[in-house]
Amino acid sequence: MSAKEIPYKIYLEESEMPKQWLNIRAFMKNKPDPLLNPGTLKPMSQDELSVVFCEELARQELDETTPYIDIPEEILKFYKMYRPAPLVRAYCLEEKLQTPAKIYYKFEGNNTSGSHKLNSAIAQAYYAKLQGLKGVTTETGAGQWGTALSMACAYFGLDCNVYMVKVSYEQKPFRREVMRAYGASVIPSPSELTNIGRKILAEHPGTSGSLGCAISEAVEAAVSKQGYRYVLGSVLSQVLLHQSIIGVETKAALDKYDITPDIIIGCAGGGSNLGGLIAPFVRDKLLGKSDCRLVAVEPSSCPSLTRGKYVYDFCDTGAITPLAKMYTLGADFIPAPDHAGGLRYHGMSSVLSRLYHDGLMEAVSVKQTDVFKAAEDFARIEGILPAPESAHAIKTAVDEALKCKESGEEKTIVFGLTGTGYFDMLAYEKFHDGKMTDYEPSAADLQRGFDGIPDINL
Ligand SMILES: *Cc1c(COP(=O)(O)O)cnc(C)c1O
Repeated sequence: MSAKEIPYKIYLEESEMPKQWLNIRAFMKNKPDPLLNPGTLKPMSQDELSVVFCEELARQELDETTPYIDIPEEILKFYKMYRPAPLVRAYCLEEKLQTPAKIYYKFEGNNTSGSHKLNSAIAQAYYAKLQGLKGVTTETGAGQWGTALSMACAYFGLDCNVYMVKVSYEQKPFRREVMRAYGASVIPSPSELTNIGRKILAEHPGTSGSLGCAISEAVEAAVSKQGYRYVLGSVLSQVLLHQSIIGVETKAALDKYDITPDIIIGCAGGGSNLGGLIAPFVRDKLLGKSDCRLVAVEPSSCPSLTRGKYVYDFCDTGAITPLAKMYTLGADFIPAPDHAGGLRYHGMSSVLSRLYHDGLMEAVSVKQTDVFKAAEDFARIEGILPAPESAHAIKTAVDEALKCKESGEEKTIVFGLTGTGYFDMLAYEKFHDGKMTDYEPSAADLQRGFDGIPDINL
């Protein structure tokens, strides 16, 4: 089929929407290492996890063997309000770059929360409702996850308590108010509402907060309140499972036109969109049916895969969550205050960490000014104003397309466009005003984070 016959947007029919999530772990020969109880250093059991997480989500977290999991009917119904998401052929970008490469992006920004996070938020809210819970607690950094969860909780009539990193709470009033519009209560973190929040405030008065600290507070709030559980928007294997809808749809759209991707690129914070996007392609690679390159893109100011250590570490600053074996910069690592592009989590999904460690996935890091430049070029050429996070993938996709221009190779590049950037205009402002720098942590900066990694690693 010639390239001309491929439309700008490949839509799936509603009837072609995937009805199952894909669990990559079932296909992995080397499984990701289990979450450990920090007290006993034994793998977390279903019962232990169920204290913090909803029962069914705890089960999904531990399930490494079921390859396909039916998406419950009520979740499918909600998905149909904003899915299937289009796979867009970036014809205008190709033309502008004068590249023989064929570039596609999967656009996840077509919902009010503005990102892919809603795919997992609705699943997690559903299982909380199914269990008869009153509500859920969570943390949010920039606010995308909190917004998605607020929407999902509103739909199922659940109470939603969001611990929002204080600096974002103060600097991102619009996100905060969207969450409140959907009925969530939003608490600046660190707060006086939890033991860990009070402790952090006592030790670091005037702190602007961090994601790790907000996680500690949200977990504490969930386990100390009757009828509440904690939910997390990234990193966990259950979240990658829900996000596999992105990849399964992408694969279905490509298959419709017999397109075989050569490179799949996604930005990586905790790894959920990328883990979801690559799920069917990892499966095919593991089954020997594909030799497609898979590329994770991270900010050079928070380089967990490219400069982190593959060890057991805490998922939060307060050291109350289970230990996860992952590429990490240390739970105490905080990116430079100048960092504006999101993707600031210190660790990486244990599934993606394992794939990277085993050479099944690559990783690159990019500088934030290059990312914002790529974001604006993209907005001017393809129309969509991307989230800074998504622009990491754009930057790398463009780099790969330019390599094709030099070599003359007609590679097919697919990248994940995870969301829109309307709520990130302060970051864009910094870029426009020339106030954005490219700080990269020195070896000594990284060492400070590594020093906080628990001493249980052999
Ligand atoms: C949260 C977010 C990310 C990063 O999270 P992952 O779990 O790594 O996918 C990327 N893009 C957008 C738009 C986000 O909101």
